[in-house]
Amino acid sequence: MTQAMSAAPVRRLGLIGQGIGYSRSPAMQQAALDALGIPARYELWETPAEGLAARVAALREAGMLGANVTIPHKAAVVPLLDAVAPEARRMAGVVNTIVHEETPEGGVRLIGHNTDVTALARILGERVAWTPGTRRVVVLGAGGAARAALGAARELGAEVALAARRREKAEAALAELGEPMGAGWHAQAFALGDEVALAGALAQADALIQATPVGTGDVDASPISLESLAQLPPHAFVLDVIYAPPETALVRAARARGLRAMGGLAMLLYQGAAAFTLWTRREAPLDTMRAALEL
Ligand code: NAP
Repeated sequence: MTQAMSAAPVRRLGLIGQGIGYSRSPAMQQAALDALGIPARYELWETPAEGLAARVAALREAGMLGANVTIPHKAAVVPLLDAVAPEARRMAGVVNTIVHEETPEGGVRLIGHNTDVTALARILGERVAWTPGTRRVVVLGAGGAARAALGAARELGAEVALAARRREKAEAALAELGEPMGAGWHAQAFALGDEVALAGALAQADALIQATPVGTGDVDASPISLESLAQLPPHAFVLDVIYAPPETALVRAARARGLRAMGGLAMLLYQGAAAFTLWTRREAPLDTMRAALEL
């Protein structure tokens, strides 16, 4: 019996990125695999840019299920894949999950997905008390997480206002997503330091998504002044994508003002759950994964 069990091939999965030793994905995904009795191992694949092509090519080998992709490779992996799913295509080709798919002809295709979009759309759908008629979301940042936030907001039919360190960056992010720039609220871009534009946007927002790295490992840092949260309507929901610390200065200040606010652990959980289902075609054991993240 032991012999038969040990003969079961152990499939492999991993996280591709740089400086990823801090990641909680291995603990979360391994707990889920173990809970469902799936013989697979989730590994950390520290990968410099010059090793990316070989790392992705290795995903074609028998026994591989796929991978997660993080900073700085989310865009660079795309040309190494066979196709990207529609939600990742809409994100101007930013991918955080790769699935090893076997074709009926016995070949292998690597398909890119963006489960950050799936996760954020799920959270916004569950948490935001939308204004009837016009849904509005303010996003801070212009990188991968901000683009995922834009994608999720657009998927839910919301208008977006995007604030980045430089207005040109915000405009470029909207343009890459094919967002028409125009007058009024729809797809507006401004600089984080433009307090007038920020106050105007916040005053009409149903949700604010903080998607810069500011606040990582610093409980007092925020990309906007905490006083500016006073502009938000009382029904507004605040989401900070930062999960370490679990409560950033922005989340703390929003809660102190009586607003509903959440850190990035739920996003981490939901993006991981969506990736798990893509790799295994099984429903993700959310409670097990949440416990592994110590939510
Ligand atoms: P990224 O692609 O490198 O983009 C970072 C963005 O933040 C850029 O637009 C950058 O602006 C801006 N930025 C950096 N430092 C800033 C500062 N001091 N003030 C204002 N803006 C600043 O990174 P990303 O993939 O979007 O990730 C952003 C954060 O989200 C990371 O901390 C990541 O860990 C987190 N994240 C969390 C989850 C989750 O599941 N909770 C998922 C994905 C990402 P410039 O363009 O001007 O440099």
